[in-house]
Amino acid sequence: MPQGQTRTVRVLVVEDERRLAGAVQRGLQAEGFAVDLAFDGDDGLHLAREGAYDAVVLDLMLPGLSGYQVCERLRAEENWIPVLILSAKDGEYDLADGLDLGADDYLTKPFSYVVLAARLRALLRRGAVPRPAVLRAGDLSLDPASRIVRRGETDIDLTAREFAMLEYLIRRAGQVVPKSELLDHVWDTSDTADLNVVEVYAGYLRRKIDVPFGRAALQTLRGAGYRLAADGG
Ligand code: CA
Repeated sequence: MPQGQTRTVRVLVVEDERRLAGAVQRGLQAEGFAVDLAFDGDDGLHLAREGAYDAVVLDLMLPGLSGYQVCERLRAEENWIPVLILSAKDGEYDLADGLDLGADDYLTKPFSYVVLAARLRALLRRGAVPRPAVLRAGDLSLDPASRIVRRGETDIDLTAREFAMLEYLIRRAGQVVPKSELLDHVWDTSDTADLNVVEVYAGYLRRKIDVPFGRAALQTLRGAGYRLAADGG
């Protein structure tokens, strides 16, 4: 805790294993946090909603609502309280799943309380990060949490790569996105030899989000890149 800071940071720990919950509570108290406990998802959600906490430490496997559901509901209510998820074992859940559901950070058991406290302090410095639950361009919508894409009321089935490309474009709807930037962010490479793959996937996306609906949301700007029309085309 920084010197001179008088307000106590309040953390809600939602963990059904009572011995572990108690140990986390003592560990964080030793680091200067005030800690309350909830032992199931429903209580956790109820307490997190009350707004008395600066951050939530959330176990995933809980009786009642799971940690995922708690996090998803908070974000659906536009509650952006920093959430750090605890996972029982590595690989049980994909890190990306938790972060997609709106968690801010993720720690795998077993963990040290010093590391947990450091991660919490980092989250508290960053503060609440608003994340729109659903991204929209006109009647085209993409929900990063549920991974559902829709044109109007029609669900659109995308591959993981198509989804990632559309998500990148829809977050920048109305802006020109260079092919090289898409390659960099969606394929994790900036090898210009691969620029063709971006064109190929732009074609795949068009055949799913535009062509069946007689629309033209995904625009090619020759020599510049792509733009997803903010009005959905
Ligand atoms: Ca558990």
